[in-house]
Amino acid sequence: MSKKLKDTYHKIGELLMRHNLAPAAAIDEALAIQRTAIEQKRTPQRLGEILIERKILDRKLIKEILEEQQVGRGTKRILKLDLRDVDGVAVVVLDGRLDETKEEPVTKVFERLMNRGFARIAVDCSKLVYLNSHGISSFVAYIDEARARGGDLKFFGMSTEARFVMERLGLSNFVQTFDGETEAIKAFGLPIDEYMSRGALAEYVSSEGKRDRFYHLSYCTAAQKIHEEDRTYFESKWHARNSGKLPCKRCKP
Ligand SMILES: [Zn+2]
Repeated sequence: MSKKLKDTYHKIGELLMRHNLAPAAAIDEALAIQRTAIEQKRTPQRLGEILIERKILDRKLIKEILEEQQVGRGTKRILKLDLRDVDGVAVVVLDGRLDETKEEPVTKVFERLMNRGFARIAVDCSKLVYLNSHGISSFVAYIDEARARGGDLKFFGMSTEARFVMERLGLSNFVQTFDGETEAIKAFGLPIDEYMSRGALAEYVSSEGKRDRFYHLSYCTAAQKIHEEDRTYFESKWHARNSGKLPCKRCKP
């Protein structure tokens, strides 16, 4: 194995650990398999391949990590922040890397937007080459503030990996993400309450099919009478109404 290849293997392991994408034990085990192959003068499998075989990672994720690695070696170590106004929504474009070292510039931009009265903010993540949990936490605080002012912070153009980071932080039920800008901007037309269940998923409930015309909060006595196997849960009021259910007059969801 050439020196260059060796370096690559090593770096993938580091990246996986840094991103918390694979447990250290699994990476160690995969590295040991590679070493054994080298000692036995066989061609070692790639680290990624081993982890895919063991169902620790999927192929798409590996591809994205490798791509990020390529870009990371280039000039995109910095983070560029751009601002646009689209129909009264401030679109913040994150271009580059968002990690713990970028907290200050990000905070500044959001502070400025809040001070200028912008509560509707859409974050364009399509140019992000790297994002970690520290990077996300630099603006999580603004989500509450924006919502308190009747707006929101919505995200679009996130890579699979970025979504993964969100999921790990338990933010996916709390934060709205969209594929594209148009959908994200459009979503500001509805109050956030229409999309969110009260703190968690599966709080709006009705019976499957037409037996119950209404949807309820899960603690409503009418909801509790619905048999477990007949229950259907909605992500939000909006989803419940969209499936033709009316709000229960007793629990007023
Ligand atoms: Zn009810």
